[in-house]
Amino acid sequence: MIAEATPALEREFNPWLAAEARFNNAAEKLGLDDGMRKVLKTPTREITVAIPVMLDDGRLEVFTGYRVQHSIARGPAKGGIRYAPDVTLDEVRALASWMTWKCAVANIPYGGGKGGVICDPNVMSLGELERITRRYTAAIIDFIGPEIDVPAPDMNTNEQTMAWIMDTYSMHNRQTVTAVVTGKPIDLGGSQGRTEATGRGCMIAALEALKRFNLSPSDSSVVVQGFGNVGGMAAKLMSRTGFKINTVIEYDGAVHNNHGLDILKLMQHKKETGSIIDFAEAENVDREEAMFQPCDILIPAAKENVITSQNAHRIRAKILCEGANGPCTAPADEILAANNVFVIPDILANGGGVTVSYFEWVQDRQGFFWNEELVNARLEEIMVNGFHAVTGYGEKHKVDNRTAAYMVALDRVAFAIKLRGIYA
Ligand code: GLU
Repeated sequence: MIAEATPALEREFNPWLAAEARFNNAAEKLGLDDGMRKVLKTPTREITVAIPVMLDDGRLEVFTGYRVQHSIARGPAKGGIRYAPDVTLDEVRALASWMTWKCAVANIPYGGGKGGVICDPNVMSLGELERITRRYTAAIIDFIGPEIDVPAPDMNTNEQTMAWIMDTYSMHNRQTVTAVVTGKPIDLGGSQGRTEATGRGCMIAALEALKRFNLSPSDSSVVVQGFGNVGGMAAKLMSRTGFKINTVIEYDGAVHNNHGLDILKLMQHKKETGSIIDFAEAENVDREEAMFQPCDILIPAAKENVITSQNAHRIRAKILCEGANGPCTAPADEILAANNVFVIPDILANGGGVTVSYFEWVQDRQGFFWNEELVNARLEEIMVNGFHAVTGYGEKHKVDNRTAAYMVALDRVAFAIKLRGIYA
């Protein structure tokens, strides 16, 4: 589809322009003045670094890394680091701004940031990944820290990556500083419940949305696109809660069972074969079509720009719960709103991950750790409050949920900026 991209489609797919479109819409509706718009929109700091790495075959390669701190108005910058061959500064910038709005919707004391390294982790050895991670950390070390900017996992990074960042930072500081990153292994100051948190948060948001349709989990069919940390966990927790996960879609195929898939067995199948396809208790279905089947809840939990102006009209889900960041483009929003799809926007739906990151940071700083029950209860409270803040705002101001989420977020960040005043 991207191959034939017209300039209009290219604009549609540019994440920074997409973020800007939503921002402008909300800022207009809030009546924010030009100056405040500029302050809110402009990233506080953008860092580009060269990362020389000795590869296993003896070649010296130089990778490019970014860290964008979009806002520090409400607290330290917070957000993940992604490793992918197609990372761009515009993408990292957009994702950093989404973190600002996400943390504001969750009402946790953070700004927003994001990092990215242009590399292909699929062709890199563990040793190469460790070297690239440590050198990237060293390059941005003056700009991160528990009170400055707290990275976390994102696409293609995980708790091992966070352990390396924590160690590198700590070696430079001559002391162990666990709170410099979140999403760490439990044994190194990680939090109970962090791995499941984004998926759990999606489920909590979906459960709140279901109440509006008078549906219970057992009457609800779910289609999940993406079976990684977000989609896989959401599917696992939701099937345990009684939802029927009818279809799972991945990059290499899709599987369907009308009576609901056994998610644990599907996970086992993927572990053994490397793919969800050819699962004995399901039929393989067309991955392009699977997203457009009628269902109660669709969870796009893979990547950006999946639902676009070209296909949004084909969505037949009652509820669209955005597990990924930016799965719908801005023009798709309008089509979904016109078709009365109840959208739970990314900055609300996938806020569970950063919320438990916040709990991890709090626990690290206190040196006192909570059990999983407490983590989950506090996560639920924040997700439910966020859900009602957004939907309540939307109803009051007669705007769709995405616009409402941005309005809530912009309003909270603008309020913090006004209270702090502009330092001169
Ligand atoms: N990468 C996740 C996100 O996009 C989590 C960020 C964090 O925990 O700081 O929300």
